[in-house]
Formats: sequence, structure tokens, C-alpha cells
Amino acid sequence: HPLFAQRMDRLGVPATIAMAQRARTLRAQGEKVLSLALGEPDFATPAAVIEAAHRAALDGQTKYPPVDGTPALKAAIARKFARENALEYAPAEIMVSNGGKQVIFNAFMATVQPGDEVVIPRPYWVSYPLIVQIFGGTPVYADCHEADGFRLTAAALEAAITPRTKWLVLNFPNNPTGGTMGRADLEAIAEVLRRHPHVHVLSDEIYEHLIYDGQRHVSLAAVAPDLKGRILTLNGVSKAYAMTGWRVGYVGGPVPLIRAMTAIQGSATSGICSISQAAAAAALDGPPDIIAQMCAVYDRRRKLVVSTLRNIPGLTCAMPHGAFYAYPGIAACMGRTTAGGQFLKTDEDFAIALLNEQHVALVHGSAFGQGPYLRLSYATSDDILTEACARIARLVDGLT
Ligand code: PLP
Repeated sequence: HPLFAQRMDRLGVPATIAMAQRARTLRAQGEKVLSLALGEPDFATPAAVIEAAHRAALDGQTKYPPVDGTPALKAAIARKFARENALEYAPAEIMVSNGGKQVIFNAFMATVQPGDEVVIPRPYWVSYPLIVQIFGGTPVYADCHEADGFRLTAAALEAAITPRTKWLVLNFPNNPTGGTMGRADLEAIAEVLRRHPHVHVLSDEIYEHLIYDGQRHVSLAAVAPDLKGRILTLNGVSKAYAMTGWRVGYVGGPVPLIRAMTAIQGSATSGICSISQAAAAAALDGPPDIIAQMCAVYDRRRKLVVSTLRNIPGLTCAMPHGAFYAYPGIAACMGRTTAGGQFLKTDEDFAIALLNEQHVALVHGSAFGQGPYLRLSYATSDDILTEACARIARLVDGLT
């Protein structure tokens, strides 16, 4: 009679975590490790947001909150969806969770069971397939290619859909590639979805504000209002407002799904930290120039990193148009050997050698389903980025 449930066998260790652990071990040995591995803004949470949290605590907002979110935050979310996404969601169509991640967990727990398929564009954020698998579902991958700007094409989606498909996950701007999808791209996706009325969509728009080159993010539910009844529009304050530790994400969607997800959350957590919810409401209602200022800094770092990487012989790097990741290709480095004697069979070998020999932590592309690439986050200082790129160049320069 084993202690652990069978679902634990399906709970893999994400390579991102494994890489972070290796970096910590090196640090513990006294090495100065530069980390470009984490998808986390290096900015501080805006002071006005912290003050709102302080006020909420002093005002007595310290009791159990409603499971689906405080009325004040849900109202701020409704205003945000209307203002920024041209989407009207009533309070009953909105739910607050412990980060965007819990939205995904709730949605799949409510709907995915053995036999169900979830279409996930590849490369993907590792949590999507991991959560699908916890509930016994099967991830089905739709490949996105650098030549298409890492966008999901209608043809790739069509080929992945079967009668067992329950969900499509869309995540643009994308982690790990920085790819974006414009209105015309989404219209093509909507056309496919109209032919397959059994498919629901989880549209993860958590990076919507981190978008460059004059583009504007558009929501699938706004492009295809006729499909709004089967779309969950996921967002959160982690990335846009540098609030990863506050753990506030939210979702807009059809009432039956919101109700089921609320029932799950009631059993799991009894709702989200009341003080964090007050902070999130202040962030969403705050002046938009805070986001614009951070975005301008990311944009500068993006150009710095991409132009530096492109100057390294043996590396290619598409210009990412969103999020804060670059996804350089390292095909020309495969089959070679580093100065430290590491034979590079895979992009994981490259990432490990880079950490061991140059003390730079990042994550190999095959951890996200597509190699040989590297994913590096440029949500860190210009100095660290410049030094890290110099170390990458040194590793590549030493290849024989
Ligand atoms: N979606 C994507 C694509 C992400 O990269 C992340 C965080 O890394 C999340 C959702 C979840 O963020 P949070 O749970 O902090 O809202």
C-alpha cells in the first residue's frame, strides 16, 4: 500500500528548477553566479501599491476574503478588462486566484480527466503540461517555429485538434520565446476554433504589457466575441507591476467555469490574501505610466542583449517582440567541445557547461520543448546582462 498517490509519478521536476538548484549549489561554494534563469522583474513593487497594502491592513482588511475575490478588486479587474482589452466581464464572470498559476490549476482540475487532450503550442511554459498531467490529461503539442516569429499557425492548430481536445492554451506574448500574435493571427486561430465547438481556450495574457516595436496586445475574446463563452482570459499583476511575491492573478470567463473554479478554490485556499488583493486593486487603478517606464527599460535591455548575442559567431537570435525573454539558437555549437572539456550534444549540455565554466545560469530551450535554443531573461540590470553576454561569448569562443 504505497504512501504516495499515482499522480505523483506524473509530477516531473521542471528543468528550470533543476537549473536554479545547480546555480544555488555553485553559489554556496562561493562562486559569483549571474542568473538570467528567472522570469521575474527586477524592479521593486511601486511604492503607491505598497502604501495601499499598508492602509488596507490598518483599516482592518485582515479577515477571510470572499473565495472568488474582494468586490473592490473584482471591480478594478472589470475596469481593467474594459479599458485595456475592450472586454466586458461582469463580477460573476471574474475570479481572483493565488497567481495566474492557480487559475490554470483550478481550470484544469475542474475540467481535465484521463482521455482529455490539451493543445499546447511548443515551445511552452513548463507548467502547462505539468498541470495537465497531474489531472491525467494528455498534452498535445502544436509546434511554433522561429521562421513564423514563434506564432501559432492555424494549420498547426488544426492538425493538433482531435475529438478528445478539451482546451487550447494560448500564451502571447510568449514565455519562453517572446513571440506575439497580432489581430490577423488571432482571427485565423478563431476561424479554426469555430470549426471545433468542443474546444475551449485558456488565453494566458500575463505578459500583455511587455510588448515592443509599436505593437498593441489584443485579446482573443475581443477579436472573436462570438467565442467569448468558451474563452478564459487569464492575467495577473506579477509581471506587469513587479508583484510576483504578492501572488495575485485573475481570470475572466463564462459563469459555469468561474463557479466550478471557485468551488475548487474554496476547498483549496479559502481565497487570496486580503492585503495582496488591496494592493492589486491599487496597481490596476494606478497611473499607467508606471508600466510604460518599466517597459521602456526592458526594451532597452532587449536590444542590448539581442545585438550582443547576434555578434557572437555560432549564435543566432530572433528579435523577441514581447515578454522579457530572448531565445537564441545554438545549432552551430552542437557537436563541439568547450574549453573545460564538455562535449555539447544538446542545449542542456551547453547550459550546464555555461554554468560550470562561466557561472552564468539560464535555461536550455529543450526544457520548454524546443532545442537547440537557450532562454535567457533580460529582466535584470544592464551590467549583469553585459557581463553575462561576455561570458557566453567566452564559452563559445573556446569551443573546438
Ligand atoms: N503564465 C506564464 C506564461 C508565466 O510565465 C507565469 C510565471 O512565470 C505565469 C503564468 C504565472 O505567474 P503568477 O502565478 O505569478 O501570476
